[in-house]
Amino acid sequence: MPTIFSKIVAGEIPAYKVAESNDYLAFLDINPLAKGHVLVIPKRETDYLFDIKDDEYMGLWMFAKIVAQGIKNVYPCERIGVAVVGLEVAHAHIHLIPINNVDDINF
Ligand code: 5GP
Repeated sequence: MPTIFSKIVAGEIPAYKVAESNDYLAFLDINPLAKGHVLVIPKRETDYLFDIKDDEYMGLWMFAKIVAQGIKNVYPCERIGVAVVGLEVAHAHIHLIPINNVDDINF
């Protein structure tokens, strides 16, 4: 089922893109838990992260690793929190959340 993330990939709704390749896209979360909260997705529509075929799955995590380094350069932080949630949007994605002080996280 197409989700809002597929519409972002298709350019049908706007998003602040931070990195893009042929197969993957990273963009700022519209409702960030912390400044610089990024979502990393495969462009190909897949509901569930663990349904992705192996090479695409590995590629997604490698892409996320590169994006995480980029986030650290732009938003100096102690570490990058990594989360796979999927409560709201059924398009596989990884959350990358810059963390300095846990009290700064808008849970
Ligand atoms: P999850 O599905 O992992 O629980 O959360 C989905 C995430 O997508 C949420 O953090 C939410 O703020 C973000 N999100 C939902 N709709 C949009 C949107 O239209 N644009 C962007 N940039 N982020 C969105």
